[in-house]
Amino acid sequence: MHGPILAEAGSRATVGRLALTDKLNGMTDTIEHTNQLDVLHIGGPTVRLRYAGLTFLTDPTFDEPGDYPGPVTLHKLTGPAVPVDQVGAVDVVLLSHDEHADNLDNSGREFLKTAGTVLSTPGAAERINGVRGLENWESVTIGDVTITGVPALHGPEGCEPQTGIVTGFVLQADGQPTVYVSGDNASVDRVEKIVERIGRIDVAVLFVGAANIGRFGDIDLTLNARTAVLAAEVLGDALIVPVHGEGWVHFSETLERLRLLFHYAGREKQLLIPPLGTEITV
Ligand SMILES: [Zn+2]
Repeated sequence: MHGPILAEAGSRATVGRLALTDKLNGMTDTIEHTNQLDVLHIGGPTVRLRYAGLTFLTDPTFDEPGDYPGPVTLHKLTGPAVPVDQVGAVDVVLLSHDEHADNLDNSGREFLKTAGTVLSTPGAAERINGVRGLENWESVTIGDVTITGVPALHGPEGCEPQTGIVTGFVLQADGQPTVYVSGDNASVDRVEKIVERIGRIDVAVLFVGAANIGRFGDIDLTLNARTAVLAAEVLGDALIVPVHGEGWVHFSETLERLRLLFHYAGREKQLLIPPLGTEITV
């Protein structure tokens, strides 16, 4: 029995090109590390990606633990694994939505002002100066990278009036892996639509954690372990990099549960849980 592909903490780890040719349950292709994407998990949904000569940051959150009062108070349990002043220059922030503190907190909001470009939803572009909004399937090219806004659904069908509009992102560049960043998305159907339209995805950064504040009863606001496995099936031979899985009280499932469900689905080798604070190459 093998563990997940979990890079060890310590110095910068290179996982290396790893062709996993075993026939996994329902998997007919190979999963390969691309060796072309550097991933630094900072905490929650916040990840620094180095890709095709650019530095990206997903949903910036750098606050220390604390409470975020609102219609439902969110409780943050852990601070960033990398302090904001050690993140370095960021060319592009990929902000899935701006309305929720676990995706954009106070220091994250300040951070937006330092980034070259901030891409998010059209609504975020209206609310925050300097943000460029992307409609679904709208693309923008920055450097050598084409970035496309892709659908996300932050809860059950029809949840938008309560949970707002969220965007995912797909990164593409010549000779580079295609990278999907889900944002807060609970819908396997949306993942199917993205695969239909985009084609092969090599690396999928999935926002998991079964976020649940009770708004829709037990229906989660992001992927849970069960739906993440379904999404992984849809994504075929993509490497799955789960984030947004720990650090907040409303993340209602553990990463261990995620690992176990991937294991029992025969998909453990597809899963790469990124360590906090240590950059890995995938
Ligand atoms: Zn959210």
